[in-house]
Amino acid sequence: MIANVSAVRAIPGRSQDNHCRRCLSEIETLGYVLGACPYGETLRIHRHHAIRTKLADALRKLKFTVYEEVHGTVDNGSNRRIDIIAISESLSQVIKIIIIIIIIIIIIIIIIIIIITVDLFRFKENPTIWF
Ligand SMILES: [Zn+2]
Repeated sequence: MIANVSAVRAIPGRSQDNHCRRCLSEIETLGYVLGACPYGETLRIHRHHAIRTKLADALRKLKFTVYEEVHGTVDNGSNRRIDIIAISESLSQVIKIIIIIIIIIIIIIIIIIIIITVDLFRFKENPTIWF
């Protein structure tokens, strides 16, 4: 049989026994062989680390501060390992600038409110002169 498929036993007509030929425990599908069979675990971890390192290097080239394999603990106490934490310093600069702009806008609004209040008091004292 010639087809554009991987030679796994789950393909109909491929084999009478469709269990994984390495561990014999599950049906030998491509997903099982690549993602779950215990015999492929070392290769999966190696592939994961290689991809993680390539992504981290690409993020570093984009001027991110990158941390790999960061250990952490969840609220329920279980341990987790974060593959990549990427921090953009330029993004934090943008956030600082936005906060400064918001503070300036708030100060301008307060100044306008003070001017209007003072003018209203002046108007109440002498309604014939507005300014
Ligand atoms: Zn297996």
